[in-house]
Order: sequence, then structure tokens, then C-alpha cells
Amino acid sequence: LATDGGDELESALVPMADVELLLPVRVGDYIDFYSSLAHAENAGRILRPDAPELPPAWRHLPIGYHGKTGTITVSGTSVRRPRGFTGPGTFEESAKLDFELEVGFVTGPGPDPGRPLTADEASRSIFGVVLVNDWSARDLQAFEARPLGPFLGKSFATSVSPWVVPMSALDGARVPPPEQDPPPLSHLRAAEPWGLDLELEVAVVRGDSITRVSATNFSHQYWTMPQQLAHATSNGATFRAGDLFASGTVSGPGAGEQGSLLELTWGGTKPLSLTGGATLAYLEDGDEVVMRGTARGRDGNRIGLGEVRGAIVPAST
Ligand code: CA
Repeated sequence: LATDGGDELESALVPMADVELLLPVRVGDYIDFYSSLAHAENAGRILRPDAPELPPAWRHLPIGYHGKTGTITVSGTSVRRPRGFTGPGTFEESAKLDFELEVGFVTGPGPDPGRPLTADEASRSIFGVVLVNDWSARDLQAFEARPLGPFLGKSFATSVSPWVVPMSALDGARVPPPEQDPPPLSHLRAAEPWGLDLELEVAVVRGDSITRVSATNFSHQYWTMPQQLAHATSNGATFRAGDLFASGTVSGPGAGEQGSLLELTWGGTKPLSLTGGATLAYLEDGDEVVMRGTARGRDGNRIGLGEVRGAIVPAST
């Protein structure tokens, strides 16, 4: 139909203005990784300046945690500023509300429980990708997260784009992933490793002004999607169709390529200038974050990954 066109095509189309975009998948389990080398190094320098930049396991396995599925919402849903503990005896509105630019993949059916996937098998179990904004309250996160990791500083909201772009559409975007040192163990080594060349950007809308605050590329990611999925099954745990695995914040090595305000403002100490003269350290009520992505198609055209947007509304009283 799409190639032949004609009257039948016209009758099958629906105007964009008449469409309400919904969550594209009922997510079963949600996992979030930490697979960008530049992000992990920056986060280490900012949050743990007296410790080594990378945790001991970082170069040996794709570090991740299980997140909260019930608060995954579709692009366009507003995000209420959370309250929480920011220190001993202090329960208040988060003053350090941040975004995390991420790319997630949605799985097809998983293996039988107890049968780990190789990285090449895992590659064939990835259905498609979405853009993800893993909203993060840095002040809640800093106080609560040791030793068990992210909890209420992350669980209040996660936004995803309304389309799952199937892997079959992204053949033209496959690229060799970065060299890994040390070489991964055999169960994390693919015969044909691949990363994805995805152009990503983040803009912040405040009032009438729109400012692009980050532009980066997903090809820098150290741990690949097949490695993440193989790792997730390496203990015998399976997954189900419709599980969501997010990349972790996507940051590149250069200036302006960081996928979070934590990094872009170096922990809020170096605010960004917005178009129109205002400054941005962390998100204010009314700020809207818009993430977009594109990929190279098979024929040299660009494929849109859609967008994921969300505006901050004041904390509940
Ligand atoms: Ca994250």
C-alpha cells in the first residue's frame, strides 16, 4: 500500500492531529544499565571524588539494576517533582531534578529459565528500540543510594517514546562497538558485535525559549545491547516479550555530549545558559525536556526515532 499509494492508501491514513499516542508496550520488567564509559567516569568524578572513577566491576560486566515498571509513562506525560529525604531528618521537594538521556530496547520472547543466552542469541531476541528519559532526583539519590543503589530518586517517573523502532529498520545504523579492555569473557563476546549509530539530542523548553543542551551519539556506548541481554540471563534468569532494558545515561567524550544535567552542569556548579538569558542548573517547575533521535537508514535516508518529552509540574502540597 505504502509504495503503490492511491485511494486505498488515503483511506488507511489517519491525520497526526487526530492521534493520541499511547505507551507502545505494556512493559513487564524494566532494567536500567550504566553502560556509557564517559557517563560512568563523569558520575564517579562528581559523586565520589575520593574514589576511583569506575567501580571495580565496571569493565567486566554491564552494571545494571531492576527499576520500577509501574511508573513508565508515554512521551507527553507531565512529571511531578518528587519529595524525599535529602539528608538526615530532612524530607522535602527535590531541588536537583534531572533528566537522563537513554536508549532502551524491548525484547521478544525469552529462553527457558535456566538457559543463558550467548551474546549472538541475545542479539536475535531484541525486538526494537525506544528513547527513554530516566528522570532522576539527584539530592534524593545521593542520600539514599548507598549501598543498595537507585530507589525513590528514580522510581517516580520514567518516560519513553511512543514508537518501538524495530531492529530490522536499523540495519543501516549498525556499527562496530568500541574496543573493550579487558576483553569480555566468552559468554559476553559476540561473533559479530554491533553497536548503533544513533544521533541523539536533548532540548529544554522554558517559556518561549528552546535550548539544545546536549547532542551526542549512541555509538560511544561501551557495553552493547546483546551483551546487556546475555549478561541478564547469565545467572539463569529469563526475560519475557515486552521487557524494557535501558542503556543508562548516554554521554559522549566531548563537550556538550553529556546526557544529564549532573554532567552538563558538573553537579549544578556550572549552570548552562538558556536561549533568552536564563540559566539552568537543575530543572525548574514548568521546564520541558525534549529528547529526539535519528538513525541512518539502509538507503542512506534518516529514520526518526521519535521523541520523548515531559514537563515538570510542581510537587504535590
Ligand atoms: Ca539511568
